[in-house]
Amino acid sequence: MTDETQLTFQNPVTRYPSISPPEQSQQEPGLDLQLDPPADRGEQSYRGTGRLEGRKALITGADSGIGAAVAIAFSREGADVAISYLPAEEEDALRVAELIKGAGRRAVTIPGDLAEATFCSDLVEKAASELGGLDALVNNAGKQIFVEHLEDLTDDQLTATYEVNILAQFRIARAALPHLVPGSTIVNTTSIQAYQPSSHLLDYASTKAAINNFTKGLAQQLAPQGIRVNAVAPGPIWTPLQVSAGQPTEALPSFGQNTPLGRAGQPTELAPAYVFLTSAESSYVVGETLNVNGGSPTP
Ligand code: NAD
Ligand code: MG
Repeated sequence: MTDETQLTFQNPVTRYPSISPPEQSQQEPGLDLQLDPPADRGEQSYRGTGRLEGRKALITGADSGIGAAVAIAFSREGADVAISYLPAEEEDALRVAELIKGAGRRAVTIPGDLAEATFCSDLVEKAASELGGLDALVNNAGKQIFVEHLEDLTDDQLTATYEVNILAQFRIARAALPHLVPGSTIVNTTSIQAYQPSSHLLDYASTKAAINNFTKGLAQQLAPQGIRVNAVAPGPIWTPLQVSAGQPTEALPSFGQNTPLGRAGQPTELAPAYVFLTSAESSYVVGETLNVNGGSPTP
């Protein structure tokens, strides 16, 4: 095989190693910098082909994990990118900003808490003013804290999970509308948990079902204006979310191994789905949820 063929023809079972992460925990929201083993966000591998040339994108939760992989990919496809994250994640965010700049694109960093309604609209205004417009929104930030028993789920957690995962998506999309011209796109991150809820993720999983529903409803509302709304539903992906109380620590060594591919996914494996749904080549794809989950059946 030539070098070129090796890049384009790969066995998905072995493309990335089947990891068995050691038990570990970080305080929420966790840092990619401290993840063991490190996650692959496509730093060395993602190659752009100009599919988002000139686009202006806002990606929430893009300091780490899936959002970071999407930010790296978008910049290499030619987009200027604003990233949002929590102040505690500044270190991760600056690394992603450097990678965006390394692709020759503009990087805007906007820390803040999406549980605050006013930050959601401030974020959009700041992104649009710094980028000189906004035509691609990726609602990706998410909060996942496992609780084994419903009676231990506090009102504070319940409210916070709903604020960050679903209410912020409504608020950010609403604030973005005045900026979105025909051809603009919104991609929301949902989860396989929307259809296969884990018993210890009741609050999280139910927000993901709501995101699927919101995506399909909003997609119909905005389609006549030439604005497309879609979603990506990841399966088990190796990110800081999982080690900052997203799963019981004893579940980490076998994380993702029960998928048909037999391994967890890496964040960079999600990036092409977001690029596809944001680029004009998916012009007739509206209200779709693209599952990227290693083969688990979905409705
Ligand atoms: P991650 O921890 O790298 O990213 C989540 C990001 O959400 C954080 O980096 C943080 O910046 C942001 N966030 C959380 N609370 C916030 C708040 N209050 N204010 C502002 N930002 C906040 O983990 P990830 O796995 O890449 O998660 C990205 C998305 O993917 C989430 O929506 C998650 O639910 C979804 N998802 C992940 C998996 C998985 O297995 N990792 C599976 C399905 C869906
Ligand atoms: Mg993070």
